[in-house]
Amino acid sequence: MKLYNTLSRKKEKLIPIKKNKIGLYACGPTVYGYAHIGNFRTYLFEDILRRSLEYNGYKVKHIVNITDVGHLTSDADTGEDKMEKGAKREKKSVWDIAEYYTNSFKEDALKINIKKPSSLVKATDYIDEQIKIILKLEKKGFTYLIDDGVYFDTSKIEDYGKLWGSKKTKLRAGARVKMSKGKKGITDFALWKLTPPNTKRQMEWDSPWGRGFPGWHTECVVMAKSKLGMPFDIHCGGIDHIQVHHTNEIAQAEAAYNKNLSNFWLHCEFLNLKDKKMSKSTGGTIRVKTIEEKGFNPLAFRYLCLGTHYRSKMSFSWEAMECAENGLNSLYKEIKNLKGGKISKQKTNKRKREFLNLINDDLGTPKILAFLRKVLKDRELSICDKHYLMLDFDKVLGLNLDKIKKDVVSEEIKEIIEKREKYRKNREWAKADKARKKLEKLGYNTIDSRC
Ligand code: AMP
Ligand code: ZN
Repeated sequence: MKLYNTLSRKKEKLIPIKKNKIGLYACGPTVYGYAHIGNFRTYLFEDILRRSLEYNGYKVKHIVNITDVGHLTSDADTGEDKMEKGAKREKKSVWDIAEYYTNSFKEDALKINIKKPSSLVKATDYIDEQIKIILKLEKKGFTYLIDDGVYFDTSKIEDYGKLWGSKKTKLRAGARVKMSKGKKGITDFALWKLTPPNTKRQMEWDSPWGRGFPGWHTECVVMAKSKLGMPFDIHCGGIDHIQVHHTNEIAQAEAAYNKNLSNFWLHCEFLNLKDKKMSKSTGGTIRVKTIEEKGFNPLAFRYLCLGTHYRSKMSFSWEAMECAENGLNSLYKEIKNLKGGKISKQKTNKRKREFLNLINDDLGTPKILAFLRKVLKDRELSICDKHYLMLDFDKVLGLNLDKIKKDVVSEEIKEIIEKREKYRKNREWAKADKARKKLEKLGYNTIDSRC
């Protein structure tokens, strides 16, 4: 399998750390609001990746985190905690909104057939571990303490920013970013934020530096290491995580443990609405539930995402959704005419190899949609071969191709079909043809099975 590694900026062959096993970590939702279809584009890409790995025979341990603390409104460690802000907006406790939006995330994921992760881990369940890694970094001289918290000193890291190929010096000069008072460098980031004096936060914990809460980039390092060990195979997220969140995960993990955090880093491009990134903080977002409420099959959104490669920008519109639903329905219609039965191993294996080549070339889903049509039209394959192949490919695509209901055929139609079969057996061709024409008049096409 070849995957595009953001770290090396090229497609690389996947060599698992442990034979036949893959450790996969994906940054999950910050649960202060509903996850939108932009977020779900990234989760869908991660689901397709996981299913493709499984199709290749790997046992995948898929970890997703729930950010329920520490994510500030500005990536430069200033601004409010998104969770506390959400709780104020809704006049509820932070814990209540975390639970509510976690559940809505799970419900929407289910609607578009995203497989449940092996573990869904919460940042607030790993506070002690986060304190421990900060202590370790402090002992090794990578941190400094200022009024508002403990910061990681990125000037101590020679190759800081290697994930996005930054030139540190370039960033420092001329950049105008609002910084916490006392912060030494623009790229330095908070490991532990202290609760300001005379304030009470809903979420705060005691630490060696005082009451406060962990910085956002520490949680993923700690949870990934605890669930998958270090290094693990693949770390994923959306492209907005490359420059700050994942860069800072790498910096602190390597500083603390002198090892790679993950061998592969995969990132999904944005889903845009009217040329702008769909974003929770700017509003105007669309949910999976909204798609359903507008009368669409939510899986048509899955089909729509499959049509754009995960590393290309995707522009969402309701017209595009309509086209996707038409495409999915026409696929369902063709599959309705297929049936299970005896298959040709030789012929189906050939098509399975072709499918594998497409998926193993950095998840070539748009090409796969075209390939499905080619297989359905393939005159060499019987309807049983096609049926078998479609269900096999659907292990990766997740379009519920195994759940398509056959049309209910009336007794009258069944009788004509049976008669036609009898005429064909008796070589009464004229009568068989008359029955076929009658069926056609009633709206049924006859396809004679070859299996
Ligand atoms: P968040 O809940 O904001 O932490 O984001 C959860 C995941 O969705 C992260 O992997 C983000 O990179 C990703 N994401 C956020 N906005 C978009 C978007 N418009 N298109 C694709 N992925 C996104
Ligand atoms: Zn993360």
